[in-house]
Amino acid sequence: MTERRPFIAGNWKMFKTIREAVETAGALVGHVSDAAGVDIMIAPNFTALAAVREVLQGSAVMLGGQNLHWAPEGAFTGETSAGMLQDAGCRYVIVGHSERRQYFGETDETVNKKIRAALECGLAPILCVGETEKEREAKKTFSVLDKQIQNGLKDLRSADVGPMVIAYEPVWAIGTGKTASREQAQEVHRFLRSLMESIFGNDLASAIRIQYGGSVKPNNIKALMEMPDVDGALVGGASLDAATFSQILHFQS
Ligand code: PEP
Repeated sequence: MTERRPFIAGNWKMFKTIREAVETAGALVGHVSDAAGVDIMIAPNFTALAAVREVLQGSAVMLGGQNLHWAPEGAFTGETSAGMLQDAGCRYVIVGHSERRQYFGETDETVNKKIRAALECGLAPILCVGETEKEREAKKTFSVLDKQIQNGLKDLRSADVGPMVIAYEPVWAIGTGKTASREQAQEVHRFLRSLMESIFGNDLASAIRIQYGGSVKPNNIKALMEMPDVDGALVGGASLDAATFSQILHFQS
């Protein structure tokens, strides 16, 4: 069986001034010097990327962007390209977060363009997928995810998507305090891995990391991480405080 290194990422959304971001990142670096065996990333606001990059120098904490535009450059006021994120020190970029799908018109088609742009630039995309509460109740979870993955990754080859990460984020669990049970998470993660296998083959599917996201906290991370197809977490609210996020990162101790 392929060993998948746990990957826990913090999405700071539209929180923190530059000073606050630097303070939190500094505290986090202090907390995680011994968090061996886990890949760690934080995605601060764009305005704080450069300053946070300085703080993270020489630490195990990697930097990520929260969104990108698919064009390399151009007249796209307010947008940021993959190359710009990489220039700012990002290794990862979150793509298709449900808040972007819900409030900013993100579609599977734009997700596909963004995934391509990120991969072409050497940035690893974290592709977010997930169903709403209504869709889950209507037993449409798997069909919704199938569509998001098939269309989001349309015309990509397994050689291209190697560095990609998938984040299963049930929309009903984001910022609500409701977490999917570990059995619900495992069921969906297994489904996603099989789907990746049917599209990209067994090697890719067994190596790809699938994070769970949705109200992950210090008190539920361990149980989630014990599930065989849960390889990490994408953490929103609980990543904003360095001590709390550090407890999540130390789930093994
Ligand atoms: C997220 O924004 O990706 C997320 C999972 O948020 P929260 O942890 O606050 O539910």
